[in-house]
Amino acid sequence: QTFEAFGFAEPLSRALTQCGYVAPTPIQVQALPPQLEGRDLLGMAETGSGKTATFVLPILQKIASQSIESAPKQVLALVLAPTRELAIQIDQEVASLARNMRIRRAVVLGGVSKGPQINALKRGVHVLVATPGRLLDLVNMRTCDLSRVDTLVLDEADRMFDMGFIRDIKKIVALLPAVRRTALFSATMPAEIKKFAYEVLKDPYRVDL
Ligand code: AMP
Repeated sequence: QTFEAFGFAEPLSRALTQCGYVAPTPIQVQALPPQLEGRDLLGMAETGSGKTATFVLPILQKIASQSIESAPKQVLALVLAPTRELAIQIDQEVASLARNMRIRRAVVLGGVSKGPQINALKRGVHVLVATPGRLLDLVNMRTCDLSRVDTLVLDEADRMFDMGFIRDIKKIVALLPAVRRTALFSATMPAEIKKFAYEVLKDPYRVDL
């Protein structure tokens, strides 16, 4: 299988070549088509499987297919991740795959000063990667508008649960438009995560690797 079959916009296809991504990984083969059709996704997959591109590509394809000028300053896609390291890695994958697009991105994480993050949000962000606690702080300070988010990704949901982020995540989800697409990834699927997943996802397509 090649990436051609997915029909990505030209700037994205070109980025895939530039990144050296020749063939999709197994999770990409399974999880890209339903997402590109607009379906929610429940993915059980580990890091190292090409999981990040599995959710970044549909986000960028959606943005590429709409006029960014209609939302010059607003967050269109939000990715929540448990740790600083993972958030930074995801943002780097967004940067790589969006290299031929004029999108604005930012990463918001705890443990560093808020100033630069607030300034980035004020300048305008289309794709925001965040750890839940700091994002909620910034939302409560009214520096971050989530009212236009149409894609939500919860990455490594099991680790976010273990780290006690569930309350923050539920508060953030409550602020998002009800009409949106959601993808949730987790390496393990204990009962509490399954329950939460079925609260936050609508008729999800399941990928179990
Ligand atoms: P991840 O599981 O998202 O952490 O990805 C693991 C590594 O695989 C990262 O370095 C990605 O840049 C890379 N990668 C993702 N998709 C592909 C692909 N289709 N072909 C080659 N490398 C890829």
